[in-house]
Amino acid sequence: MTPDYDVTYLGFWPCAEGIGSFRFSRPSGYSFTPGQFFSLSLETEDGLVSKFFSHADAPDDPAIELTTRLSGSVFKNTLLALSVGDAVRISGPKGRLGVPEGASAVGFLAGGVGITPAHSIIRDVMHNDKPLEVALFYGNRDEGCIPYGAEFRKYASANPRFVYVDTLDHAGPAWTGESGFISAEMIRRYLSDPGALHWIVAGPPPMVDAMKRVVSDLELPPERVSYELFAGYGPNG
Ligand SMILES: Cc1cc2nc3c(=O)[nH]c(=O)nc-3n(C[C@H](O)[C@H](O)[C@H](O)COP(=O)(O)OP(=O)(O)OC[C@H]3O[C@@H](n4cnc5c(N)ncnc54)[C@H](O)[C@@H]3O)c2cc1C
Repeated sequence: MTPDYDVTYLGFWPCAEGIGSFRFSRPSGYSFTPGQFFSLSLETEDGLVSKFFSHADAPDDPAIELTTRLSGSVFKNTLLALSVGDAVRISGPKGRLGVPEGASAVGFLAGGVGITPAHSIIRDVMHNDKPLEVALFYGNRDEGCIPYGAEFRKYASANPRFVYVDTLDHAGPAWTGESGFISAEMIRRYLSDPGALHWIVAGPPPMVDAMKRVVSDLELPPERVSYELFAGYGPNG
């Protein structure tokens, strides 16, 4: 059991098409390791419902942030209907996902809302200048739906230790990044030795399943890969 905290809703920030970020006050005494998650409980028309969310914020950020698909579910609609200043309950931190002890290079395979733990970890590394090599392969649908894309591009242009590859499966004509799904072939074009990194894969089941095939094509040993399944998303993510 993790402790419960009453937190204050601070507001909503649209993040990409159909995806938004919700912020909550950080309770005193609450600390977490980037990669961990928490549960949020809301009183909905179906009663009290709790769901898990990875921290999208880094530990030094002033607020707790969750980023999610605005699916139209009762829970998400209740979240959208919150007013700034409302009190809600979270419980955490939970989970063991994160940069393994002693790792010097970490890679992420992410797409859509599955970016949240990667965002927390990368933000922490960049803001605190941590000595970690980072690669992020990030798949999205089109230019309008790349959560945190501008922030990642800024980090990549300032930090040679961050390899950032974003790829779209419905790119417009002006797109200069990669196109198509993340593949082993794409990763090998950017990294000479993918096996030298510890890999983190997080997201809804369809994304994690697709990335398991990439991990297999890269012939990565199982101990080199950590997974976080966003159980609760349906087969369409
Ligand atoms: C460790 C962990 C970490 C997680 N981290 C995150 C995170 O960072 N961000 C995140 O978004 N989720 C995260 N999740 C998943 C999260 O807990 C929810 O299960 C998820 O957001 C889906 O909730 P929902 O209310 O949208 O869908 P649910 O109501 O639970 O429905 C399941 C599916 O049905 C669809 N659906 C539901 N209602 C409607 C409707 N009215 N119309 C159309 N479609 C509908 C939804 O799109 C969803 O795919 C995490 C889960 C775990 C276990």
